[in-house]
Amino acid sequence: MEYSEQRIKIAVQKSGRLTDHSIDLLERCGLKVTRSKDKLICYGENMPIDLLLVRDDDIPGLVSDDVCDLGIVGLNVVEEKRLKLEQEGSKGMFKHIFELEFGQCRLSIAAPENVQYDGPDSLENTIIATSYVSLLTDYLTKNSITAEVVFLSGAVEIAPKLGRADFICDLVSSGNTLRANALREVAVLLESEAVVIQTLAPLGDEKQALVDKIIQRLDGVLKVHDSKYIMLHAPRSALPQIRALLPGSEVPTVMPLEGNDDKVAIHAVCRENVFWETLENLKAAGASSLLVLPVEKMLA
Ligand code: ATP
Ligand code: ZN
Repeated sequence: MEYSEQRIKIAVQKSGRLTDHSIDLLERCGLKVTRSKDKLICYGENMPIDLLLVRDDDIPGLVSDDVCDLGIVGLNVVEEKRLKLEQEGSKGMFKHIFELEFGQCRLSIAAPENVQYDGPDSLENTIIATSYVSLLTDYLTKNSITAEVVFLSGAVEIAPKLGRADFICDLVSSGNTLRANALREVAVLLESEAVVIQTLAPLGDEKQALVDKIIQRLDGVLKVHDSKYIMLHAPRSALPQIRALLPGSEVPTVMPLEGNDDKVAIHAVCRENVFWETLENLKAAGASSLLVLPVEKMLA
């Protein structure tokens, strides 16, 4: 009992597209865990945080029921659960608090290549196969469409070929799976990415402070994603031109160079990648001794 009151439990997908990214991100926030593919719980070694490894579909429920304090899961799964609970007359006891910039995909309706589609009305009186019954039903209701929704837990994309459905509603990222099955995307229902959800149950000051710290660190990790630290020497007179060439930089640090009054050293954090072209342009503007380094962490 004492255990669960003190430690934060984060539900993470056990094995799938989100697993490595989720654990990597938490590790970059300073958490050390012993990874073990066949264990249900990974204990944090240096922070009072443990990971519960489960199927992604179970994550919103575990957070809603306050078994876990936080969960990392696709917005598609979160919204499906929220709507399902709403359609059953109850309310999800979780809130979505942070976007993680990975696991991007969209929930879309796809039509066989040879079937005409002129907007939602083309779905009237058809059969649509999906694993996302609640999100699809909600979309059909909002568009005043009557259609039969068939639940399939996997391999949704082969339903039209098997004569099981006229259309499908499934997750798409590159579109390769659709193309391989002679389908085309015709409507997007939801743009999704991995998010952090938190239970609505009060956590207590100590736990909430730790959750806030994790979110702040996640923010710091994501902010530096493409950032670079650039160092160079430049003639003092070229300073305005050089500043204008630094991509997405904040105010740079300008330092005198010992024994050289005409030249300065410039250090700047660039919030975008620094490409060879930029370096060549900086050199053409008079810069020398150029050095570009990756940024690992940032705390504003
Ligand atoms: P589980 O065994 O945990 O139920 P799963 O088969 O439901 O796994 P995955 O295929 O690993 O789930 O996908 C997990 C999440 O990855 C999806 O819910 C979605 O948010 C995201 N995702 C990103 N791109 C895609 C894609 N092209 N297809 C499916 N999911 C994607
Ligand atoms: Zn799943």
